[in-house]
Amino acid sequence: MQISEIFKSIQGESTYAGMACVFVRLTGCNLRCSWCDSEYTFTGGHRMATEEVLEEVEQLSPEGGLVEITGGEPMLQEREVLPLMQRLLESGYRVLLETSGERPLERVPKRVVRIVDVKCPNSGEPNTFHMENLEVLEAHDEVKFVLSDRTDYEFARDFVAQHRLAGRVNAILFSPAFRKDASGARSSSHCLLDPQELAEWMLADRVPARLGLQMHKFIWDPAMKGV
Ligand code: SF4
Repeated sequence: MQISEIFKSIQGESTYAGMACVFVRLTGCNLRCSWCDSEYTFTGGHRMATEEVLEEVEQLSPEGGLVEITGGEPMLQEREVLPLMQRLLESGYRVLLETSGERPLERVPKRVVRIVDVKCPNSGEPNTFHMENLEVLEAHDEVKFVLSDRTDYEFARDFVAQHRLAGRVNAILFSPAFRKDASGARSSSHCLLDPQELAEWMLADRVPARLGLQMHKFIWDPAMKGV
């Protein structure tokens, strides 16, 4: 498979935020979100066999723990990434899959925790969510909306209600989009949508979601890669 990078850091998002995690970042994405901070993964990278990826993960985290398969869009390399996930599970790792939600997910091993984006109107990639994925979500999965303004928020709020997401998954995540050119200060001023404003909207509407900030962008310089 084509790999951009493998590294160990602190999980910045989801209900696993704050935990040590090995990230396996695959190359390539078929979407072009306006706020994407992973454009460097669209091309390049290097070929690695499943065994080589497993070896590197084991070196970084011999004690087990969390491994996140991410990208780019990892499901574009489904033929190779599905057996990798299975092998990681068999080795005792807790496996997270971060995916755009555009690819079908029914063949992902059930024990993998799927963290699935639903792209909002101002992402530049609206209506790309593969609606059949709603039917294959498990109780341990998580659905994420990255929001850049009120239009995105209302879309996410209504999507959650319309599809009764709260009863289907472990968590619904509302996360303000970060400026992709952000660097220097580790500050919420880099968010495209003020987290305070988002919090007030969520409270007013009683949205059954968790407000998430990308924790790694407050620990390290937001422009830093490999963290
Ligand atoms: S799906 Fe993810 S990697 Fe692809 S463009 Fe959007 S944010 Fe970037």
